[in-house]
Amino acid sequence: YYKSEKGEWTVEDEVESLILGKEVEALSVEEEDAEYNPSNSKPIICQRCFNLDTKGTTELRSGEGKSIPSKGFEELLRKTLTPGVLGSSVVVIMIDLFDFNAEDSALSYINNLIVNSGVRSSVILAVNKADLFPSSTITPLRAETYVRREIDSAGITCVEGQGSVKFISGKTGWGVEALMGKVEKEMRGLKREKIYLVGGANVGKSTLLNRIIGKRSKVKFNKGSKSNQNDEAFKSVGGVTTSNVPGTTLGVIEVDLGDGKVLYDTPGLILEGSFLEWVGGEELKKVVPKKKVEPVTYRVEPGSSLMIGGLARIDLHEESKSFLITLFISNEIKVHPCKTSKADELLDRHFGKMLSPPVCEEEEREERRKVMGDFEDNIFVIDGKGWKEAAADVTLLGLGWFSVTGSGSAKLRVHAPAGAGVFLREDSL
Ligand code: GDP
Repeated sequence: YYKSEKGEWTVEDEVESLILGKEVEALSVEEEDAEYNPSNSKPIICQRCFNLDTKGTTELRSGEGKSIPSKGFEELLRKTLTPGVLGSSVVVIMIDLFDFNAEDSALSYINNLIVNSGVRSSVILAVNKADLFPSSTITPLRAETYVRREIDSAGITCVEGQGSVKFISGKTGWGVEALMGKVEKEMRGLKREKIYLVGGANVGKSTLLNRIIGKRSKVKFNKGSKSNQNDEAFKSVGGVTTSNVPGTTLGVIEVDLGDGKVLYDTPGLILEGSFLEWVGGEELKKVVPKKKVEPVTYRVEPGSSLMIGGLARIDLHEESKSFLITLFISNEIKVHPCKTSKADELLDRHFGKMLSPPVCEEEEREERRKVMGDFEDNIFVIDGKGWKEAAADVTLLGLGWFSVTGSGSAKLRVHAPAGAGVFLREDSL
């Protein structure tokens, strides 16, 4: 969206065609040039930022175009990662373990492109935000085994070879050198000069890119289409815009790394069903972990529940035995144990305050809950493996996950917004 001269918000045609898949008549180069006037061009922002700017909230699952739809993203990748490009590049796919669904991810789309193109492609998987992993429980080996298992079970074959899964933290720089070392080795070995950086929105591509370019002195940006860039934001951070708001990098950014290598940063796919869709602005800062996640374990009795802020609720059925539930989510999400029979009342009274995020005032409660829409039940029956080993994890897409430990059978009900990504992982990470 951009603000027209009349001050109205309008969708950029190009963005509309690219992202929303709508047919628009392309302008000729001359017409584009005539229309383009850098002095009055306004920064292009995504739907989410547009809503934040105009309504003070993100459009929470209430309309078309709330995120870059998978179809638009797939189309964009298909146009960008042609067989020719795949055959001349090393593709770095970034994932974030807190927001990862192997079946519906950039990884899976690229896998399809590679399989269909028949080219010998080189893919390196960068698992970002390693600084957030609880180091006491998640060792790199365990995390890698988990990632490999997830991508295998989703039928993803493009991440082959030793060292092709790298754990990094774009924020602290941890592992970035090893990642780039591997990328450069692949480039040399396969005689390729392009790097494509692909991933979901908010996985941290811009942060990584800033870190990569930060060390180089001869970096040049090729801004390409006028709709791709936000000049002011570029200047202000000396590189790529990063934000808490998913989807704020639109269009492919070409970066000449100055040593014969060119890096392309692609727009982020917003995962359907990520809990991030139900929170906006400041709330995202609470939901997306900023510090190392400290796992917190609750002993949950049959007929009891854990309220995950106002976003979800985990109930343990009365016929189950007691179980341990360990939450791997941002420690800023307020978790409250309660009797299941009292849970609805508790939510009515404390939604937005004690049960947050979402964060809202009492008078906004009703409206906010309406926007969040109906909640639905996700039922899981998990066979315990005893007290020493977690039997399974349940992913809360975008928030993280929780593990379930105990003996006997646990019948769990996860009450969450309709469409929220709640999945069972048979093995615990
Ligand atoms: P993009 O949408 O993929 O370009 O993601 P950004 O680079 O804008 O990052 C999204 C959010 O994740 C920002 O709040 C970043 O500060 C944060 N972030 C990025 N990389 C890391 C990381 O390695 N660790 C942590 N803790 N946060 C990160």
